[in-house]
Amino acid sequence: MSELAPRYSATSLLRARFSRDYWRPLWRRTKPKDAYDVVVVGGGGHGLATAFHLARDHGLKRVSVLERKVIGYGNVGRNTTIVRSNYLLPENFHFYEDSLRRYETLSRDLNYNVMYSSRGVVDLANSDDEMVLYARRGNAMRLGGIDAELLDRAGLRRFMPELNPDLPRRYPIVGGLLQRRGGTVRHDAVAWGYARAAAALGVDIVEECEVTGLVTAGGVATGVETSQGFVRAERVVFAVAGHTGSIGRMLGVPLPVETHLLQAMVTEPVKPLVHTVVSYMYGHAEVYLSQSDRGGLVMGGVLDGYPSYTREPEWHRLEEVVQGAVAMFPQVAGLRILRHWAGTNDQTMDGSPLVGRLKYDNVFLNGGWCYGGFKAIPASGAACATLVATGSAPDLIRGFALERFATGHVLDEKGAGPFPVRQ
Ligand SMILES: Cc1cc2nc3c(=O)[nH]c(=O)nc-3n(C[C@H](O)[C@H](O)[C@H](O)COP(=O)(O)OP(=O)(O)OC[C@H]3O[C@@H](n4cnc5c(N)ncnc54)[C@H](O)[C@@H]3O)c2cc1C
Repeated sequence: MSELAPRYSATSLLRARFSRDYWRPLWRRTKPKDAYDVVVVGGGGHGLATAFHLARDHGLKRVSVLERKVIGYGNVGRNTTIVRSNYLLPENFHFYEDSLRRYETLSRDLNYNVMYSSRGVVDLANSDDEMVLYARRGNAMRLGGIDAELLDRAGLRRFMPELNPDLPRRYPIVGGLLQRRGGTVRHDAVAWGYARAAAALGVDIVEECEVTGLVTAGGVATGVETSQGFVRAERVVFAVAGHTGSIGRMLGVPLPVETHLLQAMVTEPVKPLVHTVVSYMYGHAEVYLSQSDRGGLVMGGVLDGYPSYTREPEWHRLEEVVQGAVAMFPQVAGLRILRHWAGTNDQTMDGSPLVGRLKYDNVFLNGGWCYGGFKAIPASGAACATLVATGSAPDLIRGFALERFATGHVLDEKGAGPFPVRQ
């Protein structure tokens, strides 16, 4: 054995395994205190990022995140990890670009490896008409200073030889829209990284603590009722994603949100096969696909199309996505599906988020993230924290206020809207 090799004996390994340092928690487990400056409801990506920025950027010392289950239980740990800023409308592409830039440096900012991989995101076009729409979206992005490349079939062949765009297919490939800086980020690392960094700044992360009511007096919120008792709060932020509608019902404010399921699945690991994130319509079905660092092909499809909180994946969606995957990449036929799951998304009627005040001056909503909110987490956390700490919404999220549904200034984002249409 070399002098440099560590010398482990069975006893030393066993001792290490059962020592307190073997599995050190990333954040301290805690009960809620009596009172906070800000209570953030929901320990998903948006809630954790908001709490982190409240503590780091605005120096708030008494902040808590109340999560009814455990950190990572919600969509932040169920998504297909795709990050990009290839939206059509300026309100959205500037916001998502801010988020993508923050993702690029997030591992350093949190001192935690979130495994950002800028492997590119390419939307495939099946027809010349679709190419025209992609050109429009790509041009809008470029005018906004964001990278976008329209690829014809030869360009696709060069960028993605594994796709073989010339293969005869039921829905032929004519080109695509590429954003090279788009890619993937490990989803649960984002939750853990924010939770760890927020806790290090003094944020209380309270798990298994469901918020069941908002307590108000004299037209302002004074705190929240929870499964662990009443918690006083000067400000309350709801960041509950798929449960946004239930918060509206709790406050007596009907919100333009429906909860829909989105399903995803992953195959057994195989050698590197698909080097980018690819998304396309297969008939009426949307399919997106990328390969995880472990080698599994991570695939997803469209929303189920009816409101539900069940989180039960269904066979028909798996069948549809797999059909689309095999049509595009015949080499994946025969792979076994390892897991198939679903998450609940808060779908807004225009496909854009809802960030702003909710009924009371000291109550805020950070939601409406639809099926694209993972990529929004860093920007949403920073912007929402500024709104909560200063009372004034930064330009980046002004367009996302709930009032747009009353004034008619909706952000009908067909680049990533609520239904499976591309443009
Ligand atoms: C299958 C799937 C694939 C997806 N793929 C992508 C993708 O590739 N890229 C992308 O950008 N987006 C994607 N999304 C969407 C993205 O995951 C969500 O938009 C985003 O994670 C939602 O924000 P969050 O992380 O804060 O939500 P969550 O993680 O769901 O956090 C909300 C938390 O609030 C808690 N909560 C709810 N009610 C209460 C209460 N009363 N009291 C206390 N706590 C409460 C919940 O338990 C939950 O933990 C996908 C979603 C799904 C389901």
